[in-house]
Amino acid sequence: MSASPTPAEREAVDALLGPPRSLWEGGAPQASDHRAAFGGYRRSVEKRPLLLPALHAVQDEIGWISKGALNYICQRLGAPPAEAYGVASFYALLSLEEGPPRRAHVCDDAACRTLGGLEILAELEGRPGVHPSPCLGQCDRGPAVFLQRAGEEDAVLVDAAPRQAAEALDGGDPPLPPVAVPQAGDSSLRLLRRVGAVDPSSLEAYRASGGYEALARAVEMGSDAVLAEVKASNLRGRGGAAFPMGVKWEGAVRYPEPRYLICNADESEPGTFKDRVLMEGDPFALIESMTIAGLAVGAERGYLYIRAEYPLALARLEEAVRRARGAGLLGEDAAGSGRAFDIEIRRGGGAYICGEETALMNSIEGKRGEPRNKPPFPTQAGLFGRPTVVNNVETLVNVIDIVLEGGAAYAATGTEQSTGPKLFCLSGAVARPGVYEVEFGETLGGMIELAGGVTGTGRLGAVLLGGAAGVFVGEGHLDMPLTFEAAPARGAVLGSGVVLVYDDAADFRGAARRIARFFRDESCGQCTPCRVGTVRQEELLERCLGGGALEEDLFDDIARVMMDASICGLGHTASTAIRSAIDLGLLEASECLR
Ligand code: SF4
Repeated sequence: MSASPTPAEREAVDALLGPPRSLWEGGAPQASDHRAAFGGYRRSVEKRPLLLPALHAVQDEIGWISKGALNYICQRLGAPPAEAYGVASFYALLSLEEGPPRRAHVCDDAACRTLGGLEILAELEGRPGVHPSPCLGQCDRGPAVFLQRAGEEDAVLVDAAPRQAAEALDGGDPPLPPVAVPQAGDSSLRLLRRVGAVDPSSLEAYRASGGYEALARAVEMGSDAVLAEVKASNLRGRGGAAFPMGVKWEGAVRYPEPRYLICNADESEPGTFKDRVLMEGDPFALIESMTIAGLAVGAERGYLYIRAEYPLALARLEEAVRRARGAGLLGEDAAGSGRAFDIEIRRGGGAYICGEETALMNSIEGKRGEPRNKPPFPTQAGLFGRPTVVNNVETLVNVIDIVLEGGAAYAATGTEQSTGPKLFCLSGAVARPGVYEVEFGETLGGMIELAGGVTGTGRLGAVLLGGAAGVFVGEGHLDMPLTFEAAPARGAVLGSGVVLVYDDAADFRGAARRIARFFRDESCGQCTPCRVGTVRQEELLERCLGGGALEEDLFDDIARVMMDASICGLGHTASTAIRSAIDLGLLEASECLR
């Protein structure tokens, strides 16, 4: 294989980085080249964060990353080839092997496997470029297929039939999926009020619906007052950890500038799709919220890290940033605040672990998306070693109402420890799957009723709460309020708001197998307990479901070691859902569990 780039590969990289200016960068010799050689290390540090975007540029245009393309990227960025290879091989959506111009990632995860995802995989079996995929965040309208298309925009096929998926792989153009929520038109909605009701591509329409009033108010108030209101609101993070947002912001501003803001839009927990709906349906709200947050914590730059499997959300956010910049709402004097703030959008590469905040920061920095040890925490030493606030999409969008209503009024809604509204992702065996907004305090049974009740046999089998990192619960939990305080007290978790409903005829053995495979695949492999533990856990489950004995002590030992000795939350939670399925008797059809 040639180690030189083709003209098309060069062009793809140069379109992102600009033409090479020197021999050092792969261009014509320049008088300053000897100086560049000595300044090379510094230059490579500055350019390294462009590694993932450069890899994406080649993948997008050519459909794979050849050795020549990788060499050229390394030359342009001053990156060591071995490290760049390590990064390129880390992400599922980057391919180092030549393949067809279209690749189909067919979701066979928790929701889609019950909706026909497995049938699509069977139909496409043996065709090049077809891969089973973990959750694509389309659980309310599965089965879903994510299409990578060389030289064209990526696309998503939803409610897919096997024949449609085959046509899309052959060159068809999937229709743009609609963005809607089941509660559309309900005047009590706060976070979802504009979704499906206001044109997401129009800044004027956003402003006409009250958009950017909160930013104007925040600029008037000043950053200290905004921070005080956020603290008073007692808003807790909606991504799973439930950390108080005001405490996090306050933690970062204790350290000197420069500081960074990161919006974690790498929503990848199986069963979660609420942030996608917000980003597709109300992108300006996220841009406005990030601007308020950035100004409040004294960041001049915000990074919005979005999963690559959300091409529609990505396109709408890019457009929203362009328009906000054009209107002076971002830039050197953001919204007339006298302070600079701008937003850079970064696309993930198909790695669940990059939803972990420190893995995400490594990914932005052009490294493998592997979590860091904590401490230091990001508020002290985060992105590029600087104080960094990381919040997810839903959490940030709450800031608009906090600024407009005041923190105390916001804190008066919901419950004492779980304030404000909350989005839940209802999917599986319910009549009306989708994202639902309720004030904190609604029970699990109430949520299922809101989504039209249990379908299939009509009898509840179990609910997967919180996604693959969550737990299965049964009928005994239907009266449990879905709050940060009530769920742990009943041995459950809210996680990212997944409520995946199964009827009593569901294939729980298949669901448990998929969860075990998910953690085996998504472990970054950095620490031994998780890398080996997730493999051993899957083997134990397979032996048991295949008719062997349940080696319960061994299963619990592995779970304990992963929990105690793993670096990050993936290892800590890799066994909780499977353990809960065993405890609930959901796998009882297996001989070993009788
Ligand atoms: Fe990686 Fe797993 Fe360790 Fe997390 S716990 S750092 S995913 S190996």
